[in-house]
Amino acid sequence: MSDTAASKASVLELKPEGLYCAAGDFYIDPWRPVARAVITHAHADHARPGMQHYLVSNAGMPLYRARLGHGASLQGINYGETITLGNAKVSLHPAGHVLGSAQVRVETTDGVWVASGDYKLGFDPTCSPFEPVRCDTFITESTFGLPVFRWQSTTEIWAEIINWWQGNADAGRASVLYCYSLGKAQRVLAGMTTDIGPIISHGAVAKLNEAYAEAGVALPVTQMVSDAPDKAGLRRALVLAPPGAAGSSWLKRFEPYTDAFASGWMAVRGMRRRRGCDTGFVLSDHADWSELLTAIKASGAERVLVTHGYVDELVHHLRDIGLVADGLATEFGAEEDSAVSLVAA
Ligand SMILES: [Zn+2]
Ligand SMILES: [Zn+2]
Repeated sequence: MSDTAASKASVLELKPEGLYCAAGDFYIDPWRPVARAVITHAHADHARPGMQHYLVSNAGMPLYRARLGHGASLQGINYGETITLGNAKVSLHPAGHVLGSAQVRVETTDGVWVASGDYKLGFDPTCSPFEPVRCDTFITESTFGLPVFRWQSTTEIWAEIINWWQGNADAGRASVLYCYSLGKAQRVLAGMTTDIGPIISHGAVAKLNEAYAEAGVALPVTQMVSDAPDKAGLRRALVLAPPGAAGSSWLKRFEPYTDAFASGWMAVRGMRRRRGCDTGFVLSDHADWSELLTAIKASGAERVLVTHGYVDELVHHLRDIGLVADGLATEFGAEEDSAVSLVAA
């Protein structure tokens, strides 16, 4: 390891509580309670309760309030705004993952590091698009870090969902689509219209739709079951429900229905079978293989640290193409788009 980044001290280091910046005395997405946390996005494995103080993006503020509660001490900053914490300069930059998601840029006398959280480069009108940030060391996720993962365009997937919905409505069946309640549900919704029939949100989805509306994201109107759509309406409805609602009594009212699952994991045949769904739509809020490599290249980083996902495979490939790369053992990934929660859900 002869490169300059590797010979300098670390800007961020792993501690039992999480990824720590000694110069600024803060943690990024800590998994144990700490005094000061800088948060990349509002998914449960990154924004955990119990921190004394949170620094978050203003763009995601309604989500943080919904997820962490109004009692949490939340400080918001705009994308691109730099604040000083101790001897570190910190700024947040769009990660394109979900509303308000941010890459954290940290600059100290030891260099510039970017912790990207979760990210994607694909089209998503519900959040600001990923912006490359130049750095010496880039920390990347690898949820879908295998060459077999190649996403279709968002508009193609929307068209597939609409076709499926129309076919079910024509046959007099409701269409139940399982999608994670934070991010995925709203990204699906952004491509729908109510021309075919009503769109009904499960309560968990509706709560987050409201946070998106509060942040100014325009989405089609959805109903709750308490709005009591008539029987004919129910048979033409698209129902957005979290994966955990599968097999629940809440879904009984929509019988007879057809169900489907929207997730990057639907690219894996075995996962589709395991879910026992009729249909799978391959739609992920994580980067596919080529997006990971594009983002890593665009960072200009000479060193890459790889977390949650196919760590060994991505590290191996990055070394092959001449980068300094290592795995970083974080506790992220037990979240809404992980294979673990998919199987458990
Ligand atoms: Zn996430
Ligand atoms: Zn994650």
